[in-house]
Amino acid sequence: MASLSVKSTLLHLQLAFLLLVMVSFCMVDEVSARPRQREFDYFKLALQWPGTYCQHTRHCCSSNACCRGSNVPTEFTIHGLWPDYNDGTWPACCRRSDFEEKEISTLLDGLKKYWPSLSCGSSSTCHGTKGSFWAHEWEKHGTCSSPVVQDEYSYFVTALNVYFKYNVTKVLNEAGYIPSNTEKYPLGGLVSAIENAFHATPSLVCSEGAVQELYLCFYKDFKPRDCVVGSIIQDVYSSKSSCPMYVSLPLYFSSGLDVAETAISWIPDNEAL
Ligand code: 5GP
Ligand code: 5GP
Repeated sequence: MASLSVKSTLLHLQLAFLLLVMVSFCMVDEVSARPRQREFDYFKLALQWPGTYCQHTRHCCSSNACCRGSNVPTEFTIHGLWPDYNDGTWPACCRRSDFEEKEISTLLDGLKKYWPSLSCGSSSTCHGTKGSFWAHEWEKHGTCSSPVVQDEYSYFVTALNVYFKYNVTKVLNEAGYIPSNTEKYPLGGLVSAIENAFHATPSLVCSEGAVQELYLCFYKDFKPRDCVVGSIIQDVYSSKSSCPMYVSLPLYFSSGLDVAETAISWIPDNEAL
């Protein structure tokens, strides 16, 4: 009788062990052997201010929007649509889905204008190769946007649509915050203008007193929400935001293709990648 109950306990233990092994196999992505990351909590639309970013331009190539002469963007452009966790961390490189430019061929005109690269450097992709800025954003962030956004085309079209719907540059211009190389604007004024328009608090990143990035946050249904760090709404005046009380929205003047530039060298796109 006792040996029967020992046998049945052993059988139960074996079954439990088998179950544990099966569960842990299911938790690992077959391709990257990276543990599967849990579903994200909210989206962050990361925008970049070309006037600030382009100040660091050292090389030019035709794909770099900083090198477009008088056509350098004078509005926020897209950096990426990022799925995030409420605790301030984020998932990255969630599954193998190599970027295919042909899947977004119908969006290319819009992407070149509103989601250009502001650099000639190649970007690392998730699986040890190098690619374009778009390839980097899709593989690192886009693949973690499930189940809301499932494929590459939806990722880019969704980001463009959200960007058009929540036009930060327009809101700031209408509130009197226009790009300038002489004016400084109160950070609180910029934040309030966006809060009044979208009923949610953005967060900002500055470089040497100039706005470099601006984040707008959204629930999974793309209704605006506050951007949070940890469980505390980010204090835009804290040192974390890297922005001083008064910030600038500079304009970048590049000589473009036509004028000989001493400090900036032109390199072919394929050399850049
Ligand atoms: P940095 O260190 O320049 O702030 O960020 C480097 C990279 O980390 C970003 O380009 C982005 O891919 C990732 N990253 C930084 N902050 C966030 C964030 O708040 N959410 C997500 N999803 N990624 C971020
Ligand atoms: P993230 O910081 O989004 O993870 O990484 C951005 C990657 O894309 C970096 O490798 C960076 O060199 C490259 N990159 C190419 N164009 C841009 C751009 O316009 N802005 C930023 N932030 N990174 C870019």
